[in-house]
Amino acid sequence: MPARILSGIAIRDQIYAELTQEIADLSGAGIRPGLAAILVGENAASQIYVRSKIAACEQLGLGSWQLTPPATITTEELLALVAELNARDDVDGILVQLPLPAQVDTKRVLEAVDPAKDVDGFHPVNLGRLVSGRAGLVACTPAGSMEILRRSSIPMEGTEAVVVGRSDIVGKPMALLLMHANATVTICHSKTRDLPGVVRRADIVIAAIGRAAMIEPDWVRPGATVIDVGINRITDAEEAGRIFTNFPAKLAQFKEKGFVLVGDVHPGVAEVAGTMTPVPGGVGPLTIAMLMSNTVKAARQRRAQEQAPSSAHRNGKTTGAAAVKR
Ligand code: NDP
Repeated sequence: MPARILSGIAIRDQIYAELTQEIADLSGAGIRPGLAAILVGENAASQIYVRSKIAACEQLGLGSWQLTPPATITTEELLALVAELNARDDVDGILVQLPLPAQVDTKRVLEAVDPAKDVDGFHPVNLGRLVSGRAGLVACTPAGSMEILRRSSIPMEGTEAVVVGRSDIVGKPMALLLMHANATVTICHSKTRDLPGVVRRADIVIAAIGRAAMIEPDWVRPGATVIDVGINRITDAEEAGRIFTNFPAKLAQFKEKGFVLVGDVHPGVAEVAGTMTPVPGGVGPLTIAMLMSNTVKAARQRRAQEQAPSSAHRNGKTTGAAAVKR
């Protein structure tokens, strides 16, 4: 029986409906969450990503700003820009679109973002919180993958989960989230021995590799849940023909557009898996939805913090309304 296909678009819409309500409530309290995106240079793919993120802000009624410094910017200049955004009260979320030009120290820039505004969840403080199970702002793609699993009622507790890929932005946080959901997690990478054998043990497979159609149907245990994080653009006719031999609609798409998208999972896996996410339309839409969700969460948490009694007050040194910052 073919796999049940989990639509990321339907889940994104559910999340947007919930966020719309939350944003209206915040608006009633005079708060409009806002996201500032720093897009350095003219990278075409980055421009498309940032455009869709800003469009999502506009759709939901969030504030948004796009800052577009030139590709020649120095680390110090970018740090100054981040510091400015850290200090602005109307900015709740800061996103630095990657990759940055070679002359910029990416790590220093990401670590300069105020952890309270780190809506990409890349700051070491937020990663540390995730490790210790007190997750604050979590990286959007793994957080979105978890939303798909949860909202599709896929059981996680006690299951064998295999994450293929160990990047800081997808594989590692994904593995931690699954572990906190009480799955038994194995992380695989390019040095893993017998990758097919390890994947075959999994009740839940997460593919975050960056290699087109790599997870083959005979690697997957019948009935398993497969979350395909990969997005690969195939422009080679021979490769498209090989991957999509039994998928005439995809081949027709290739002929028409000159390219076709495929995940890290072979489309034939749908004949073996119990449940699977499609590409496109699976994890992709959730990544932006979680960015929106993190921006709203950052706004809520920052205001709550601003309204909380100061530590002096908590220590009993100050009392009364004067101790409450507004
Ligand atoms: P990275 O290149 O940072 O990491 C890839 C990981 O895959 C590495 O850990 C690498 O292992 C592992 N890997 C590479 N080749 C093999 C192999 N032959 N066998 C086993 N493991 C291998 O990629 P990202 O994590 O950033 O992204 C992964 C995928 O997810 C990409 O397709 C990307 O386009 C997609 N993506 C999708 C998003 C979305 O919104 N849907 C957002 C972000 C990413 P090693 O560490 O040993 O090198």
